[in-house]
Amino acid sequence: MTCLLCGSDHHHLFAKAESFGYPLVYDQCENCGLVFQSQAESQAADPEFYATTYRRIYQAHEEPTAKDLWVQSQRAQHLIKILESLGVREIHTMLDIGASAGVLLQAFHQAFACQMTGVEPGDAYRAFAEQKGIPMFPSVEALIAAGPERFDLVSLSHVLEHLPDPVGMLRQIRAELLSEDGLLLLEVPNFYAHDSYELAHLACYTPHTLREALRQAGYDPVHFERHGVPRSGILNLYLTVLARPLGQAAPGSVRPERNVSVKRNLAMLYRRLVQKLFPHRAWLALPEGEDR
Ligand SMILES: [Zn+2]
Repeated sequence: MTCLLCGSDHHHLFAKAESFGYPLVYDQCENCGLVFQSQAESQAADPEFYATTYRRIYQAHEEPTAKDLWVQSQRAQHLIKILESLGVREIHTMLDIGASAGVLLQAFHQAFACQMTGVEPGDAYRAFAEQKGIPMFPSVEALIAAGPERFDLVSLSHVLEHLPDPVGMLRQIRAELLSEDGLLLLEVPNFYAHDSYELAHLACYTPHTLREALRQAGYDPVHFERHGVPRSGILNLYLTVLARPLGQAAPGSVRPERNVSVKRNLAMLYRRLVQKLFPHRAWLALPEGEDR
């Protein structure tokens, strides 16, 4: 088992957790500092897992729940605001990888009138998006086989942490799917605020390791944001990055992150403190009738 970011074989136990009744083991890379799920003990490493089991375990339904759609819609509006604040006015074509039910694509279509394409391995979610008329593919390989034009915007919202080869996927997007002056949009849980230990989370990104993953894959971040939208008014649960592809990727070796354990412990201590002091700002209310 090698590190998902730098490929080193040297790692040690970082944490044990449990998710949906499955034991989880997270190791830390001794070279770069990335915390990643030990694949020897991981259920999520099996590709079949995603097609059906993932949604059933996570959401208790194979089809989108109201809460799920609400969260995705709030995220989409936030991402649109970020792009607009950076002066992005025109997006002609958009690809969303891990498109789920197509909520992000539809929101961007409304805001920018862009053509939509989605990749979603989950059968029920993909069917849901297809019913709305969105061209959908079950995998990036299937999309590439269809010979698509390059896209102005490629997004992966809460997807990178699920991928067994995140740098490889980002490189493939740059090499085959994103236009030269296109934009990559990423959002992941922030290891320094979000629980992060979940059955299908293969890697736990910090601001540092996320930047390094992008650098290794040949991207230059043009915007980097820590925020809690839509769940928290205080906790920076998520990391959002907008990046441009570089012409030539000559990244050199991964720059290591030190003291990850100390930073994680302090972050979770801070989280417990603000949850106690400001419970209603730490966790914002969901729409009527929905549980956290
Ligand atoms: Zn590493």
